[in-house]
Amino acid sequence: MDNAQIADRLDALAVLLELSEANPYTIRAYRRAADVVRDAAVPVAGLVTAGRVRQLRGIGPGIEARLRELVETGDIAELAELERELAPGLVGLGRYLGLTARRSIEIARALDVRTPEELREAAAAGRLRSGPGVGPKLEAQLLDALARDPEPRPQRALMLNLARELVSAIAAALGGEPAGDVRRWRDASERLAVVAAADEPEPLLERFAALPQIVALLERDERRAVGVTVEGVPVELVVAAPGRFGTALLRATGAPAYVEALEPLPDAPDEAGVYAALGIPWCPPELREAPFRGAPPELVEERDIRGDLHCHTTWSDGRASVEEMARAAIDRGYDYIAICDHTPAVGAVQGLTPDDVRRQGEEIAAANERLAPFRVLRGIECDILPDGRLDLPDDVLAELDWVQASVHGGQRMPRAEMTARVEAALHNPYVRCLSHPTGRMIGRRPENALDLDRAYALAVERGIALEVNGLPARLDLSGTHVAEAIAAGARIVCSTDAHSVAGLGNMPNAVRTARRGAAAAADVLNTRPLAEL
Ligand SMILES: [Zn+2]
Ligand SMILES: [Zn+2]
Repeated sequence: MDNAQIADRLDALAVLLELSEANPYTIRAYRRAADVVRDAAVPVAGLVTAGRVRQLRGIGPGIEARLRELVETGDIAELAELERELAPGLVGLGRYLGLTARRSIEIARALDVRTPEELREAAAAGRLRSGPGVGPKLEAQLLDALARDPEPRPQRALMLNLARELVSAIAAALGGEPAGDVRRWRDASERLAVVAAADEPEPLLERFAALPQIVALLERDERRAVGVTVEGVPVELVVAAPGRFGTALLRATGAPAYVEALEPLPDAPDEAGVYAALGIPWCPPELREAPFRGAPPELVEERDIRGDLHCHTTWSDGRASVEEMARAAIDRGYDYIAICDHTPAVGAVQGLTPDDVRRQGEEIAAANERLAPFRVLRGIECDILPDGRLDLPDDVLAELDWVQASVHGGQRMPRAEMTARVEAALHNPYVRCLSHPTGRMIGRRPENALDLDRAYALAVERGIALEVNGLPARLDLSGTHVAEAIAAGARIVCSTDAHSVAGLGNMPNAVRTARRGAAAAADVLNTRPLAEL
């Protein structure tokens, strides 16, 4: 058994433990162990046999016992038992059809079906109706969803980070490329796709079906399969002949309107070849939303970013200290970072009082002495109160290097009131940036009723930047709004709103979202050296 096979079994066990509502710490421990095994430099089976597997990080006695059983017998009894009992394939299919895990299992038991194929057969034979609580309406809905869908979509779009994680892991396992919505860095993904190249598609399609992430197949053709995860998310694999890989990748990257306008696509082994044969310049995936054939503009790149201007620390709701965040920023190659903790009005978490701001300033000054020439900026994420005043007095804001102004509470204001509230804040002489300007939370909260055109105009007039917030749930401004803001003459900043060292890793989300709005490096303030900023 090689490391990848062992890791896949541990991952499968984690999925099933999750379905059986086991302790989340146990589930996480199995997931971590799977990662450790997958990345181990030596054959783990050998370590197990030699009794040395606990030398690997995160492998305790419990997991060691499972590994021993797996290596000695070829499987884990509990895993096989859970697979029989919980039928993850049926749960995944059920969730894809819009049922809860519990309902899927109930219906499957009542109909005595154990696999997705058996469920399809039961449906075809008209037996669904004998399932508990399955009336004519639900039956029709299930039959409809079970019918071959050329473009299967999840019940709910996936957040960018989850979608990227899923698609990247599958692409890596198959030696393919991530495509679909994540390759365009869409805010929320509906089409999850991977494209791989092979003369013989069969072995890759087999490996795809056997991946721990894929619990059932919705479809399978000669060169394409659609699998479903235990969460019910459909993932598509296209196996192109090597000479057509570029064509398949372009087609699977979408968006549909963009691709349709380029059809018929010539065959080529890579995308560059397809574009060359079409006689048009290669187009960055972020710009492939609407039909477009021209020369794409120069876009900002991740490597252009010189610093992160929105980060939290343990002074408010962050998990790392000022110095830890600063050192992590140095590791990323940045020249500066702005520490922007919350102010008291944010409510749910502790916010900085004027006294705290001054004490934090001393800590930042000390860090700057240690870390020079790197620069830690004294910043704040200051709440905009419902009446438009800021949550700290002007004399405190005046001491700071970088003031972000944010609407947090009271977001359901009518448009006129919300616009007046933000406008008042933008008139404050110390505000440098408007954070997450629309306040949306993807899939949960719509954009605030704010007259964005007024906000852009005032930001330009007052020399205030607009943030592209890289938190996967925010991505605010969105690409569409970035384009509007730039057209209005505004400058943007790409920030992570990091609440931990790992959170600094969300910068690509902000940069790619800015690229979706066709932002150039010159449009993004934190591509500049500190003196210019
Ligand atoms: Zn905020
Ligand atoms: Zn923040």
